[in-house]
Amino acid sequence: MDRILLSPADVGPLEESYVLNALRSGWVAPAGPDLAAFEREVAQRVGCGHAVALASGTAGLHLALLALGVGPGDTVVVPTLTFAATANAVVYTGAEPVFIDCEPATGNLDPGLLQELLRDLRDKGRRVGAVMPVDMFGACADYTRILPLCAEAEVPVVEDAAEALGSTHRGRAAGSFGRAGVFSFNGNKIITTSGGGMLLSDDGDLVARCRYLSTQARQPVPHYEHTEVGYNYRLSNLLAALGRAQLHRLDDIVTRRRRLRERYSKLFAAVPGVRLLAEEDHGANCWLTTIVVDPLVAGWRAREFAAHLSAQHIETRPVWKPMHLQPVFAGAEALLTGTAERLFADGLVLPSGYGMTEDQVVRVLDAIEQFVDLR
Ligand SMILES: *Cc1c(COP(=O)(O)O)cnc(C)c1O
Repeated sequence: MDRILLSPADVGPLEESYVLNALRSGWVAPAGPDLAAFEREVAQRVGCGHAVALASGTAGLHLALLALGVGPGDTVVVPTLTFAATANAVVYTGAEPVFIDCEPATGNLDPGLLQELLRDLRDKGRRVGAVMPVDMFGACADYTRILPLCAEAEVPVVEDAAEALGSTHRGRAAGSFGRAGVFSFNGNKIITTSGGGMLLSDDGDLVARCRYLSTQARQPVPHYEHTEVGYNYRLSNLLAALGRAQLHRLDDIVTRRRRLRERYSKLFAAVPGVRLLAEEDHGANCWLTTIVVDPLVAGWRAREFAAHLSAQHIETRPVWKPMHLQPVFAGAEALLTGTAERLFADGLVLPSGYGMTEDQVVRVLDAIEQFVDLR
């Protein structure tokens, strides 16, 4: 029996033709017309003025912080429930992350706690370099509440929208909420360049600074002249071509992932003690559908359910292990409520791939029903 994966990349003839055309155009040297076009098209889609395509989402987060002047001695607010890249980018700059807990319904940064934390940091006289909300599994953080808090505290927002291309919050596109927003095009994300990312902003100077830092901070003179340390963070033209083909399919990808989540939602509506994470968010791109199990009501635990599905060759994954529990961040400051730890214990990410066949979907749904019926 074939193994059903969590969220495999799905590429076909369209991607093939874009990459082949880029290859045949002679633009194999890193920059080229597909790179500029990809930046333009993503910026347009998101409604942002400027964009720079990069080798990874992590590179985008790093550059966003550098461009905002974040460095040693600064504190940066990072949700504890995220992928390590958000926190790593802070450490690259020499600043320190302070972790903050999330809301139970969505797993996104808790605005009430943020207010408390910003006040506390101000009272301690700390310089807060940025707040980095993460759009968890494609559902936007609550920017309606977060942005005014950050504006009042005069702290810039860097939106980690790595998972959220195609999502909206009250009609506004993910990636457009902060001083800078960052997407990832890693292999498992909503669209892929096999590896890559993009930084977007309405601030043209900020994007120009990131573009300059991403190409070894080379001065605009004929010889190689450098007045500061730069990075080799640019996306290549060939990969941008792959990204353009994927971007063409984004609406279809989101529609199919939404439909899949609706089927999960219907099935679990009849199962006591199980809910979907961010179920009420109709603007989410539904990158990964995640359930949260209340073991006392359901009578079983997420990890028993995972073992049952694994035996049937169906891949699932726990929700991110919170950053404050990671050995590498032991000792970091954190403002916690226990929500992220509960989501880590009781959450489970279900197969959400765009390329899943109807047979595979039915196999997963049948396996779920079988487990639930046995209980
Ligand atoms: C994937 C991801 C990143 C990092 O993106 P890469 O392109 O893999 O560097 C950052 N933050 C979050 C929340 C992610 O899911």
